[in-house]
Amino acid sequence: MNAGRFAPSPSADLHIGNLRTAVLAWLFARSTRRRFVMRVEDLDDRTSADIATRQLADLAAIGVTWDGPAEWQSEHAQRYDDVIASLESRGLLYECYCSRRDIAQAPRAPHAPQGAYPGTCRDLSDAQRRQRRAETGRPPALRLRTDTFTYTVEDLLHGRYTGIVDDFVVRRGDGVAAYNLAVVVDDAAQRIDQVVRGDDLLASSPRQAYLARLLGYPEPTYAHVPLVLNEDGARLAKRDGAVTLAEIGVERALGQIAGSLGWPTATDLEALLAVFDPARLPRQPWIYRPA
Ligand code: GLU
Repeated sequence: MNAGRFAPSPSADLHIGNLRTAVLAWLFARSTRRRFVMRVEDLDDRTSADIATRQLADLAAIGVTWDGPAEWQSEHAQRYDDVIASLESRGLLYECYCSRRDIAQAPRAPHAPQGAYPGTCRDLSDAQRRQRRAETGRPPALRLRTDTFTYTVEDLLHGRYTGIVDDFVVRRGDGVAAYNLAVVVDDAAQRIDQVVRGDDLLASSPRQAYLARLLGYPEPTYAHVPLVLNEDGARLAKRDGAVTLAEIGVERALGQIAGSLGWPTATDLEALLAVFDPARLPRQPWIYRPA
């Protein structure tokens, strides 16, 4: 064990907020003498190898270093299939024929929290399954048969956090591993015990920790760091102006990140590492104003 990581999805160039999260993940790992690994999360159709290559180049340019070559999720299909087969053999998976619309319109079970899968396909008979398969005419997704509605994780910034665990998808209808499964399986395979990422993913962590426990993996330590917002309080995006490294420049980007963390005089990552103190991290989102 003992590694931290950064796991970008190559659907767009990294913006200053993503770079800041990567710097924080690196600082958390290096300040605790962990290895730091890089993982390209390219399972989605919207991702591209060109963007991934630019992301890795940008990370290297600001001084983020990682141990070993970057791993690519698109090369891990066998790893995911093996875990899915093991869950299947334990009777923990079921086919789901629901479209997004079916889920939105389905009545919710009395105990199911808002935002949870309503359980429509959980207890179908074999005959009902055959019928649903024939009706929908598309390959089903696979969902995990969970035995709880919530799970609690420990987060270095948020403390004890309890969130929804529903029967989430582990394999999409197109046969590709779902995000929540791939993250958990890869974190274990890469021996990651410290997960630092944007706090938009805090709500996913109970599902992931629950699955990790089910698979007998140790649960990682989490630190969900505040996102970067634009002046309107919305998540920073490309349309907000000059937000990528190509637009900002390495030196200025480093200055902005160091300033946002409260160490305006640090000019590179080693200098930041020398002063880094997780207890002093700003807990509020960073409002970014492109020059
Ligand atoms: N690939 C995800 C993203 O870029 C991050 C996943 C994770 O850190 O667990 O939003």
